[in-house]
Amino acid sequence: MAQEAEVPHVSTGDIFREALKRETELGKQAKKYMEAGRLVPDEIVVGIVRERLAEDDCRHGFILDGFPRTISQAEALESMLDEMGVALDAVIGLDVPEDVVVKRLTGRRVCRECGATFHVDFNPPKREGVCDRCGNTLIQRDDDREDTVRKRLRVHLKETACLARYYREKSLLRRVHGGGAIAEVTRRIREVLKG
Ligand code: AMP
Repeated sequence: MAQEAEVPHVSTGDIFREALKRETELGKQAKKYMEAGRLVPDEIVVGIVRERLAEDDCRHGFILDGFPRTISQAEALESMLDEMGVALDAVIGLDVPEDVVVKRLTGRRVCRECGATFHVDFNPPKREGVCDRCGNTLIQRDDDREDTVRKRLRVHLKETACLARYYREKSLLRRVHGGGAIAEVTRRIREVLKG
């Protein structure tokens, strides 16, 4: 969708995974939280988003993925956007039953090199274990193991689920049924963004 809209896809999880791979200071700070399926502290996350949104390619818009995840992050985002003189167009809330989430995450495989994402059943690569895009090895994210996924779901319920109300009250929330095939869910998101 970011490609279609010609705006950057800003994923805080991707930024942390890249930092971890490069063993930067940020990566070292984030590592223990990510491995435990916990949230990285707000000050760290808000700092990296602020830096990312200040980059040139974000001047004509961006899609945020995985941020904000707490009310305090949402408030920080709001003041950041105010300073930049821009506003959110919409917030997509995907409704997916817990057992489906577990199946999707535990079956997810990602390319170690280029970050492309696959699923063993729902979006398998042409050759098992090999990235279609760059030919490198596919791995399972450490935090996609079932026990960590369940922990992440608990964290989501405790810290992130309340954001639905926060954005509903601002008339920005667009709830989308997230069940079914990737193409179907993508189509539903496109529809609500048009409407
Ligand atoms: P994701 O790829 O969005 O599932 O994020 C992977 C992990 O990175 C999360 O489980 C958190 O440990 C960390 N993370 C990513 N985004 C955030 C955020 N907005 N706030 C706190 N931690 C985050």
